[in-house]
Amino acid sequence: MIEILIATKNKGKIKEIKKILGELPVKLLTIPENDTDTVLEDGQNYFENALKKAKHYGKKYGYITLADDSGLEIDALNGKPGIYSSRFLGENTPFGEKIEKILELMKNAKNRKARFKTVAVLYLPKTGKVFSAEGKVEGEILEKAEKREGSGFGYDPIFKPNGFESSFSMLGEDTKNKISHRSRALQKIKEIILKELLGGGKMVEIKINGKRLPANKYVYEVFKSVILALIGTLKDIPEVKTVEITIKKED
Ligand code: IMP
Repeated sequence: MIEILIATKNKGKIKEIKKILGELPVKLLTIPENDTDTVLEDGQNYFENALKKAKHYGKKYGYITLADDSGLEIDALNGKPGIYSSRFLGENTPFGEKIEKILELMKNAKNRKARFKTVAVLYLPKTGKVFSAEGKVEGEILEKAEKREGSGFGYDPIFKPNGFESSFSMLGEDTKNKISHRSRALQKIKEIILKELLGGGKMVEIKINGKRLPANKYVYEVFKSVILALIGTLKDIPEVKTVEITIKKED
């Protein structure tokens, strides 16, 4: 089975990625607990930072590697903090303080439009191939933080996505995961994995003596050799009169 390394130590991100990519027939791996590497995110944009992380861990461990980089862009602050979102006021400054600072900077701002953006990158160390996908969610910066304990992280308490009445933090994980910048980028990555690594969403239908075997819609490319070997053995079983194989492209 294809193995993909998730290049992040952020537990929230790992959970979100596993939820979205977990439906695919791929094994998702995480960075070992004892790995203390840090990758300096000094790129010019989200793509460069995500690629840097994916390449670092992809080259180190030899697996196809997925990394992402995100940020909050506020129009009234000329797109800041943007790629500096985690370093805004210093990497280790508590988010409560970062949020207070943003609310203060936005005190008189009429235009409160903002968006979260993510670029996710998939790096294939054997060939050097790189695939990437972007996701964003438009919204606005609230005048006061709305925080629900244990829900969301980072700038979630001050970001209200368009079409909703409360902050990402108040909306809770399930709703956030449906519409978030990261989930949108990851959905596209899922399509890329399906097309580029798993054979383009082809499905295989096998009928023996006219009866359909249950087949997972993603199996064909990944399990092609297993299926062919299985079929090779069927010809020696006298009860097997006919074997029909249909390969379909997913709708
Ligand atoms: P990262 O580089 O993808 O880890 O994201 C950089 C920073 O953007 C994080 O430290 C957070 O400050 C912020 N950020 C990214 N995604 C979110 C989110 O979903 N909610 C709130 N803040 C986020």
